[in-house]
Amino acid sequence: MLDIRALRKTFGAVEVLKGIDLKVAQQELVFIIGPSGSGKSTFLRCMNRLEEPTDGSIFVDGVDLLHPKTDINAMRRRVGMVFQSFNLYPHMSALGNVTLALRKVLGKSAAEAEAIGMAALERVGLAERARYYPSQLSGGQQQRVAIARAIALEPRVMLFDEPTSALDPELAGSVLAVMRDLKNAGMTMVVVSHEMRFARDDADRVVFMEAGQVVEEGQPARLFGPDAHPRVRAFLTEIT
Ligand code: ATP
Ligand code: MG
Repeated sequence: MLDIRALRKTFGAVEVLKGIDLKVAQQELVFIIGPSGSGKSTFLRCMNRLEEPTDGSIFVDGVDLLHPKTDINAMRRRVGMVFQSFNLYPHMSALGNVTLALRKVLGKSAAEAEAIGMAALERVGLAERARYYPSQLSGGQQQRVAIARAIALEPRVMLFDEPTSALDPELAGSVLAVMRDLKNAGMTMVVVSHEMRFARDDADRVVFMEAGQVVEEGQPARLFGPDAHPRVRAFLTEIT
């Protein structure tokens, strides 16, 4: 589904990603953890070319993302992304935010976009808030709108970069519940987050990154267990 090989990214003289390999199978939930500055966000952003990788390859469903002839917009539709800051348009309702790309990018009619948008809002439990503006929604609700906006485009894989970091724990819970539903519905997901309980309970695989490299990866039981790489154990001790 997602096949990343020898991915490198440099900013000026600084090499932030030093040759990363990662394969993600269909319906798999891969969790990426690691210290601040280790390159997690840069890695995710490379996966839908918000950053241009310096070297390496990324295949999504067999399509070479970095090939000059690959249509970036078509590709971004396949790879949905949710950020820490929800990035909703404040002057548009929840439904307006969710339907924008459906209308402008996919060229759907207003009625069609609305039907798809309402179904997406339904999936994140916000159908009855469709006409609310972002300022009238809690942080957790805003993030769920951002998730609805992404899933409305029917991506093949969803990337999450610290989706709950800006939220109080109780609001974070509602976002995590939606992410769990997505996984149970078969969505392929790559998640960067400090929600270690979510990683432990729901991830199929955990990847520990440090200084632009993958130090260790494996099932949660291994990464969170006593036999994990000492760097992983040190990191987990530090943050918990
Ligand atoms: P955090 O956990 O704090 O979010 P991270 O693992 O997501 O950290 P990145 O944001 O990917 O880390 O940053 C990795 C490194 O790349 C950092 O040293 C950062 O300063 C550097 N970096 C990121 N974006 C840029 C940029 N646009 N220009 C220059 N350096 C950058
Ligand atoms: Mg980051």
